[in-house]
Amino acid sequence: MKAEIIAVGTELLLGQIPNVNAQIISKALQEIGIDVYYHTCVGDNQDRLSDVFKTSFARSDIIILTGGLGPTKDDLTKETVSNFLNLPLKADEHSLDKIKSFFAHRGKPIAENNYKQTLIPEGASAIENKNGTAPGVLLNNNGKIIVMLPGPPAEMEPMLKEVVIPYLSKMCNATIFSRVLKFYGIGESDLEEKLQDLIAQQTNPTIAPLAKMGEVTVRLTAKAKNRIEAQEIIKPVEDEIIKRIGSFLYGFDDDSIEKIVAQLLFNFNKTISIAESCTGGLTAHKLTNIHGISQRFDRGIVSYSNRAKHELLQVKLDTIRKYGAVSEQTAKEMAKGVRLSSGCDIGVSITGIAGPDGGTHEKPVGLVYIGYSDSKTTYVEQHFFNGSRINIKERSASSALHLVRK
Ligand code: ATP
Ligand code: MG
Repeated sequence: MKAEIIAVGTELLLGQIPNVNAQIISKALQEIGIDVYYHTCVGDNQDRLSDVFKTSFARSDIIILTGGLGPTKDDLTKETVSNFLNLPLKADEHSLDKIKSFFAHRGKPIAENNYKQTLIPEGASAIENKNGTAPGVLLNNNGKIIVMLPGPPAEMEPMLKEVVIPYLSKMCNATIFSRVLKFYGIGESDLEEKLQDLIAQQTNPTIAPLAKMGEVTVRLTAKAKNRIEAQEIIKPVEDEIIKRIGSFLYGFDDDSIEKIVAQLLFNFNKTISIAESCTGGLTAHKLTNIHGISQRFDRGIVSYSNRAKHELLQVKLDTIRKYGAVSEQTAKEMAKGVRLSSGCDIGVSITGIAGPDGGTHEKPVGLVYIGYSDSKTTYVEQHFFNGSRINIKERSASSALHLVRK
């Protein structure tokens, strides 16, 4: 089954809103094993929509349109599709009753353009819209499935998930299932080189590496009759990958580094405090996104100035004078300082140059020191990150959390 999505709306073409609907629909279709071959955006223009629909109708088995089901003049989706298919539009009784009672409640007669909303092509069924007034349309036209859904994602998504997806998944009994492996400390090209032969042979499951913010994820996707069979297809490939690069693996699927660190703190019954300079509290922010972390996370100190590093973390003014605020020595004293002043088991520190200016030849933009301190040891990692200020902050914060994991 080949599917495609047509998003109707001039606002999409003007760049005023992103095409969120296509993303939601594509994801949902891939979960039930339906391949999506095209996304098209077209404005609120009958001729151009008709052109686009004609092309889609010729090449796809399933066409899902969103937008243009509303009451206004520029809402033309149903009119255009039924024109093309030569099907007259007829009022859907249930939707008509709903709109009638909606207006009766307000003591007003039903307006012409609201009546228009209840029209659906002959032979189609209406999809109830519990969050709006325009119903959707589901039509089986000689084996081709045509679906029309309203534009607002909050209306579209429940209709898709409650009606359209169950209908389509009944039609084709295949599942696509993905497993994501998450790696840190290995570059994308290095990883690809180590998996080269596996990637070259891939068919089912497919193997897709993706690099993001210093991490590399590998998505394994299998097509099968059901989830259990898909998991069985994935397992040997997953095991082989872990055999080769498992030392860089830190999590699976929805895991995040903050989630993993929180789990470790709970498992080992440890408390943590964080002293941050260039990340401005971002590391603490990430960690505090984890529900329940208050039992393990004591405090985050944003010690941006030298004075703050000295007064709040007992970093010696001499150390800063001699080595600078961005230095291994300062990071060490910060990590130890925050651990001792908070009475926690673990202290973490981050000090670096996020840029875009402030860098020198010896200390370039992107130089970041990350410190770790517990009762047995205190040490510092040196990093050189690339990218924008925001990127450098992001990478520093996640590296600090990865350091705790190690
Ligand atoms: P309404 O009854 O609200 O007019 P409609 O089905 O006629 O619904 P449109 O008029 O095309 O839909 O779009 C209404 C709103 O829905 C848009 O202003 C936009 O905010 C949102 N929307 C439309 N299409 C998309 C899309 N593809 N992705 C995300 N949002 C969208
Ligand atoms: Mg509209």
